[in-house]
Amino acid sequence: MKHILFDADGVLQHATQHWQPALQSVLGLSDEAQAKAVLDDIFQAETEVLETEGGFAERLERVLAKWNRPGLLSQTLDVIHAIEVFDDVMSTVQALRRRGVRCHVASNQQCARAEVGLARRKHVNLSRLQEHARTHGGECLTEAYITSRTYYRFRCAEGHEWEARAGNVLQGGWCATCRAAERVGKR
Ligand SMILES: [Zn+2]
Repeated sequence: MKHILFDADGVLQHATQHWQPALQSVLGLSDEAQAKAVLDDIFQAETEVLETEGGFAERLERVLAKWNRPGLLSQTLDVIHAIEVFDDVMSTVQALRRRGVRCHVASNQQCARAEVGLARRKHVNLSRLQEHARTHGGECLTEAYITSRTYYRFRCAEGHEWEARAGNVLQGGWCATCRAAERVGKR
């Protein structure tokens, strides 16, 4: 097995709230039926932009105008973008990747929402690096996560600085200078 395709919603991530009641509340809609009709319009807008780079926000603004709810774009996007990643599934994906299996996302999300999921995952991964550095009494000096193969800058408790791949550090790698000094001390 060389490649695995993962779906996004319900597999790698899940929405933290049900859209219909959340929209009903945020948009002040009169009842469930109206909330469902608005949601159908939003799904329609999402479908229209699946094969394009942008345009979702503009279409969403048009949907809100149609329902006489202008000015509520950011609140509506907050509902749609409330996504959490399943940490256990992401760990499995990382383990598979370490074994050389290529993992991909096959999703029908429109670009704006996919980017939110990606940004969220990067944020989680950066937190892991920072947490790992803290357990060694040091810190991660790089402030943005790219991929597990990217080099990140770290500083240990002794003030040594170096760069290492995220994957290496998360598997237990730490300051080589300290480790070398420790070995000399044991002789
Ligand atoms: Zn050190």
